Amino acid sequence: MDLSKYIRDIHDFPKPGILFKDITPLLNDPAATTACLEQLIELLQGKKIDKVVGIESRGFFFATLLAQKLNAGFVPIRKPGKLPHKTIQRSYALEYGDDHIEMHEDAIQQGDLILLHDDVLATGGTAKAACELIEHLGGVIVQCNFLMELEFLNGRDQIAAYDVQSVLKF
Ligand code: AMP
Repeated sequence: MDLSKYIRDIHDFPKPGILFKDITPLLNDPAATTACLEQLIELLQGKKIDKVVGIESRGFFFATLLAQKLNAGFVPIRKPGKLPHKTIQRSYALEYGDDHIEMHEDAIQQGDLILLHDDVLATGGTAKAACELIEHLGGVIVQCNFLMELEFLNGRDQIAAYDVQSVLKF
């Protein structure tokens, strides 16, 4: 199944000059969602995962599906002020702005095998900050996987130390 036809290009969102990759048509189609989940699982090639870390908010959709499929826990990485318990933070640069992300300080235990997931790898700043949070808590990053990678932004250079995989490349 060609999943690229389920990704909708939105010009100038959320800012002029940004070509936003909208995954809602894919989520709207159960066969495409299933096929996408299967491809993400295949990228792992049977590697054992204890926890899937998903990045707010579009990373949550497939991160939770992956966690259930892998019989792993799910850990949310969220924007500032959203998580109720004690958190650790990292700042990062986005393709369109600056921000920081947070994770619960007890979400990962030393030696946990981690799959990091997000919908889009753009400049790689968010994924890099997420990897720093995971490793700060002693997690071992087995793979970083994405629905799609915007190759012209070279985001994988930021997380070159890890196994980086994506279902679609643009
Ligand atoms: P970056 O830190 O630049 O790799 O940005 C990755 C994060 O921003 C992901 O959580 C994406 O959901 C979002 N993002 C960045 N660029 C785009 C884009 N062109 N279309 C959709 N989402 C994007």
